[in-house]
Amino acid sequence: MKIDKIVIATSNKGKAAEFARMLKGLDIQILSLADFDDVSDVEENGSTFAENAFIKASTYAKELNCYAIADDSGLQVDALDLAPGIYSARYAGDDSPDRDLANNSKLLKELAEVPQEQRRARFCCSLCLADPDGNAVICTEGFVKGEIIDNPRGDKGFGYDPLFYIKEYDKTAAELEPDIKNKISHRGQAIKLLLEQLQNHINF
Ligand code: IMP
Repeated sequence: MKIDKIVIATSNKGKAAEFARMLKGLDIQILSLADFDDVSDVEENGSTFAENAFIKASTYAKELNCYAIADDSGLQVDALDLAPGIYSARYAGDDSPDRDLANNSKLLKELAEVPQEQRRARFCCSLCLADPDGNAVICTEGFVKGEIIDNPRGDKGFGYDPLFYIKEYDKTAAELEPDIKNKISHRGQAIKLLLEQLQNHINF
């Protein structure tokens, strides 16, 4: 299979750069939505990370007539029946001026009565590569396990990172150096799997 070009279906420059870095060994042009005018908004109305990743990848692949990769990610907390899950970005509502702060406050409020040993959580990421007809070609998932602590630590990450403690490193995700976080993160794991499968497809 020949793939000349892949659009990373995000306007988030940091995310697009992370993908571009991981895919740079391949002879494929990597673009993001920021390289196109007037792309439509896609409603993420799936009920899982994987469904949302497919919906975004498939819609943009058809609209832009090229291969597209999309991701969907978030936090699952065991004691909260896997919430906030696909609602991670807007857990505390849509219109808060500092969403990360509001989401983290809500998370701690919901966990107020839950003892530390029952605060297991994981970040999850689903990825989908769709072809220009909108068919899913490769779908992967990555996870990183941790637990939610009460006192935020670190200033390197975003989202729920300051509350997400990773025992193996004795650090929160916001205390990890970006290189380490990218390597062990849910997104890093899912991209690595996608890259492996993509190489097999290209060489086929
Ligand atoms: P999205 O898939 O980029 O839309 O991410 C959804 C939401 O999940 C983000 O807004 C964050 O709240 C949360 N999230 C996803 N990945 C991470 C991460 O690596 N660290 C912290 N929060 C994350």
